[in-house]
Amino acid sequence: MPVAGVWTPWAEVLCRHCHDEIDAKEATAKRKIEWPEGEKREGDGPGLCTKCGATVWVHEDVAQLSRLRKLTGGVMEQTGGMCAALAIGRLDGGTVVVTNLDGPLSIGVYGPGEWEEGGAEVQCYCIPEATTDEVAAFVILTAVKEKRKED
Ligand SMILES: [Zn+2]
Repeated sequence: MPVAGVWTPWAEVLCRHCHDEIDAKEATAKRKIEWPEGEKREGDGPGLCTKCGATVWVHEDVAQLSRLRKLTGGVMEQTGGMCAALAIGRLDGGTVVVTNLDGPLSIGVYGPGEWEEGGAEVQCYCIPEATTDEVAAFVILTAVKEKRKED
């Protein structure tokens, strides 16, 4: 059974146990988390704790990216306003960035340094919300490996 989880301001999905462990270690990092009465809040989906891998309830958009991360690698990032993105490095130094703000998955391919500097994506794929994690991961990994269009 999934346990309550949290999407942290430093871009980690944590189960209650891992979150409390960090709080216990760093008194200065003590943060007030409003843990739900039950384990699951409305709009939550099953995600994965980035520390221990436990299945946790977090908001479905964050949950989906944390599940995809297990299949594709990469790191979770904050994109402002507590929005989540999954960033995966490419061999050419570029970045593939996965977001799902409006439901469908958006997979953007950025040239070297472009994502970090707020540049534009050179290619973008959009796949429907209902796509399974496995198919979404396949499309993401294709975007990670494919040769970038010459501009
Ligand atoms: Zn954990």
